[in-house]
Amino acid sequence: MGLNFCSLSSGSSGNCYYLGNEFHGILIDAGIPATSIRKFLKKMDISMETIMGVLITHNHIDHIRGLEVLIRKNSIPAFTTSKIWKSVLTPYKKISRDCIHEIPLQKKIHLAGFDIEAFPVCHDAPETIGFHICANNKKITIATDLGHISQTAAPYIKAANLLVIESNYDEQMLVNGKYPHFLKARIQSDHGHLGNHQTSSFLADIISDNLSHICLAHLSKNNNTPEIVLQTLQQTFSERGIILNNQQRISILNRNMPTDMIRLVE
Ligand SMILES: [Zn+2]
Ligand SMILES: [Zn+2]
Repeated sequence: MGLNFCSLSSGSSGNCYYLGNEFHGILIDAGIPATSIRKFLKKMDISMETIMGVLITHNHIDHIRGLEVLIRKNSIPAFTTSKIWKSVLTPYKKISRDCIHEIPLQKKIHLAGFDIEAFPVCHDAPETIGFHICANNKKITIATDLGHISQTAAPYIKAANLLVIESNYDEQMLVNGKYPHFLKARIQSDHGHLGNHQTSSFLADIISDNLSHICLAHLSKNNNTPEIVLQTLQQTFSERGIILNNQQRISILNRNMPTDMIRLVE
């Protein structure tokens, strides 16, 4: 049975990720319009009817923009913690109660063949979580908004075969850019986002043959470029003497369009 992953959109303008097998799929976040989600999935021959649930990481608009319509039009169950639901339902009051499912932190839930565990990350929302998902003997970790990698989050990230981790900003571009001081401070803080060097050096610390796909995600529109992200990672790996094996892949996720499907299991 195959297992496929792709990013429909990744970055401060909208996040939505797909993980699925031949029969079922799940989405992680719905930060782009529901019409775009449907359109992008259709292009890849994936029907919305096969989507068994959407997992929500936190209440920032770039992660929930399309959630209400997605749920209303498709009756898809949505999963996140009770605290995050409270913060999501404040602006999105019309979300049908039938589709709301509360999940615990650091405890597995089972959904359509996927074992899913939410873990807490440090970010400036009422609560933010990452997801560690096991299916077909593969482990996928998604951690897109976090100011630093805590001791709680690190084991979930280290265990991944496919890792989606943010590389949000280039430190120089942010410092020299036009953002007001308070915003620069927020982004750089432990509850903001991970910069390219932070992510690269963490990856250099943890990389092993088990980590077959690194997907660098949630790039800032104003303070980063895909070229700089890749260059920073390559330079860090080279300084540390890290050479990837033939099976290991690095992807920089597109900000506004889907990436190619990554086939984790053929
Ligand atoms: Zn975000
Ligand atoms: Zn956020």
